[in-house]
Amino acid sequence: MADKAKQPHGKEIDPDVVETFLETNPTYIEKWLKLHATDALITKIKPVTSKPIHSKIEAPKFMNVAKNVVTNKLLKTYLEGSETKKEIKVMETSDLKNMREEEVFMQLVRDIASELNVDVLCHKILRNVSLLTKSDRGSLFLSRGTTDNKFLVSKLFDVTKFSVLEDCLHDEEKAIKVPYGRGIAGHVAQSKQFINIPEAYDDPRFNQDVDKKTGYRTHSILCMPILTADGDVIGVAQIINKRDSDDHAFSTEDIKIFEKYLIFCGIGITNAQLFEMSVKEYQRNQLLLTLARGVFEEQHSLERLCQKIMTEAQSIVNCERCSIYLLKDFCEAKIDDNGETSKDTKLGTYTTPNEVVFSKAFDLFYTDPGNLMILSKADIDKSKNADLGKGVAINKKLVNVIDLEMDSRYGKAYFVDESGFKTKSLVCMPIVDNKCRVIGVTQLINKRNQQSFSENDENIMEAFSIFTGLGIHNCQMYESVSRLMAKQRVALEVLSYHAMAPAEELKMLTNAEIKGPECYDVGLYSFDFDDYFMSDDETLFATICMFNEIGVVEKFNVNYEVLCRWTCSVKKNYRNVTYHNWRHAFNVAQTMFTIFFSGGLCEYLQDLEMFALIAACLCHDLDHRGTNNTFQVKVDSPLAALYSTSVMEHHHFDHCIMILNSEGNNIFDSLSAENYRLVIKTLEHAIISTDLALYFGKRGNFKALIEKGEKNFHTGPNKEILKAMMMTACDVAAICKPWEIQFRTADLVSAEFFEQGDVEKEELGEMPIAMMDRDKKSELPKMQIGFIDAICTPVYDLFSQLSPKMKHLYNGVIDNRANWNRLAEIGMDRVDDLSDEINEGKMGNLRSTPQKVTSKLSEGLPSQNLPPRLKPAAPSKKANQTATVSHTTKVKGAQQQSNNNAQTNHNPKSKSCNII
Ligand SMILES: [Zn+2]
Repeated sequence: MADKAKQPHGKEIDPDVVETFLETNPTYIEKWLKLHATDALITKIKPVTSKPIHSKIEAPKFMNVAKNVVTNKLLKTYLEGSETKKEIKVMETSDLKNMREEEVFMQLVRDIASELNVDVLCHKILRNVSLLTKSDRGSLFLSRGTTDNKFLVSKLFDVTKFSVLEDCLHDEEKAIKVPYGRGIAGHVAQSKQFINIPEAYDDPRFNQDVDKKTGYRTHSILCMPILTADGDVIGVAQIINKRDSDDHAFSTEDIKIFEKYLIFCGIGITNAQLFEMSVKEYQRNQLLLTLARGVFEEQHSLERLCQKIMTEAQSIVNCERCSIYLLKDFCEAKIDDNGETSKDTKLGTYTTPNEVVFSKAFDLFYTDPGNLMILSKADIDKSKNADLGKGVAINKKLVNVIDLEMDSRYGKAYFVDESGFKTKSLVCMPIVDNKCRVIGVTQLINKRNQQSFSENDENIMEAFSIFTGLGIHNCQMYESVSRLMAKQRVALEVLSYHAMAPAEELKMLTNAEIKGPECYDVGLYSFDFDDYFMSDDETLFATICMFNEIGVVEKFNVNYEVLCRWTCSVKKNYRNVTYHNWRHAFNVAQTMFTIFFSGGLCEYLQDLEMFALIAACLCHDLDHRGTNNTFQVKVDSPLAALYSTSVMEHHHFDHCIMILNSEGNNIFDSLSAENYRLVIKTLEHAIISTDLALYFGKRGNFKALIEKGEKNFHTGPNKEILKAMMMTACDVAAICKPWEIQFRTADLVSAEFFEQGDVEKEELGEMPIAMMDRDKKSELPKMQIGFIDAICTPVYDLFSQLSPKMKHLYNGVIDNRANWNRLAEIGMDRVDDLSDEINEGKMGNLRSTPQKVTSKLSEGLPSQNLPPRLKPAAPSKKANQTATVSHTTKVKGAQQQSNNNAQTNHNPKSKSCNII
């Protein structure tokens, strides 16, 4: 101790002596302080701020989640506050004495403007009122409950001019509940009138129990309602025992001051409650986002989903326990393939509690957040919470039980389960499915730190229930999709078993001696090739022959058996429709083969691309159903649902991949990864390009390139366009064939079109377009001319400009146009006359039809897939050659030639035996 102090009369006191005295008499200083210390001194010694109020206010968890929101920043500022802002200045009696009343109010207004914590604000007001009215202590109650079940809860109790907020604040444990109409505060709340009692013990409404507990003697009470601007009671404040008056009674002046202060109290509480609401709204939005995320993340397991949602809801609502009860009818209901709950269920149609049976229930406790408890049936049967839930499932309405002890509907007692857990308050809400049927209920139990669940909690509960419903639905959908996928996998397994090459056919093909290209009809290198009199087996041989000519087995290390199996599988995967069947695919492939070698386009392509393009041609109409893309969309077929554009073409490609992926069918298996990618890309591009809807755009580009004399089609986009055009040129190549083949093919195409037209007429009740209308068959020649002019002539014209060897196709289409034109003139019914004219050479420069056909037909060769013959053609110079003879002689004569030329010379003249 340094300085020496002086006594009032001048005598010095030794501070050490004082210190020693105080140390040995510890109660003295306490006594002295009680008697003499000013408020300023007490504040100085033990400032209220030594325990900063804001440290008690927990910043909500969500603060750490969203960072870039303006609202978030603002809320954070308010909730955390700054050190200076949260300092509570306590006015002292001496201060007040020196202040005019207006100044005191101004001080208060400033407080209200900056104080959004309702506890801090009310504490300040009660202290100020205590000082101004010289009352010993004051208390504040807040109004709670529903309209017909209102009660007061103590918020601040026994606030004296010395007390700090924490000591007066009543949390859940301490809270005193007073129903409206009971006791002095209850009466004030109900009547909205103040009560001023000079001697409490004389008033029967006064409850002496508190005094008995605390040992405090209550004399006078001034109790007043706190009203909102609309005149609703939001709380009740009371002050007790006037200090400087003998009879303790509060004066009229005290009433005035108290009343005036409580107006501010009303404003403050309303503001703070509004702010609280906006904070809660923000929290609710955060919850919605989190729940939404949860729903999408967790779809494999109902348990995990429930745990996630419950954990979120619990932490935001801040309750002790959270439960979900699911109805037996829901859990046992069958879910169909569309993820819908079957219709034969009683779900959501209950009228008595006996009908409502919960078969699944989850519990999550605040104290053990990681542990989702699954309740046993016995637990559920015994649970009063479940009983309450049954009522909610029947009425389909949210129930908020503010306090079970106060609620006559539920026996005015807490629910206590076997573990001793007490349910004091709860919110219970139905969970509904996508059809708005109740599938269960959710419960939030015992609000922590506060007495009961608020309207905001109800809102959160609603979100919680909706998301639980959504999540459960999502889980079901996922399960149903998984089941569907499994079903599909099984179906695919079964299908691919049946879709793959028949063992016998494969054996036949693998063991067959594959003859040379000249042995099939007029030869595989001929533009005028016709498969009409070939057996199906022969088409398989011819296919392998084309692959042999390209040399795929040697060049790309293709397993020969796999090549045979794949070819048989592809053939098997064509349906037996009138035109778009295996024969069409085979013909398109043969044309491709011809334009490579006889048309001279192989100069632009690598061998691997030729391999892929032949494969693409063979696959380009796989699983065709004899109907076009427009039809798929019109009948809303599953294919149309699967692909939005080029519907059938996408399906053909996917089917092609499916075959390649089936065991023992991957002809490209030995390719490097890079080459494999190239092949698949080529297959896709080529097959999709057969959609005529895409053709026109590409033809424009091709035309522009040809017209500017472009010769470089070896790489890049030019090559892509070339390949696309080649696919179209091959797909419609029947238009260039000798007249008989052309007419026969046109007849098949229109027959298939008419079949679609018939379905449109009969099943859809629609008028088909002319091309598909059987009744307009006579217009066929005209339509063929239209088709030739719009699609065919331009493409063959461009190709013949690119390669003179392609001129043959162009000439073919021109000839056929003339024939169709002639037929348009003389009429469809005189088609035979046209054939005679051609045969007799009356048609000028028109090519004659290959004529070795009649005899083959008469030999009764295998006729599977053979179209009906229109009219036997007149015998020609080759008519006497039977197929067998012709083949035998060709094999002997030409195979040698073929072997010599196959790898070196692609000149069709040198390879083909029979170009007409
Ligand atoms: Zn086609």
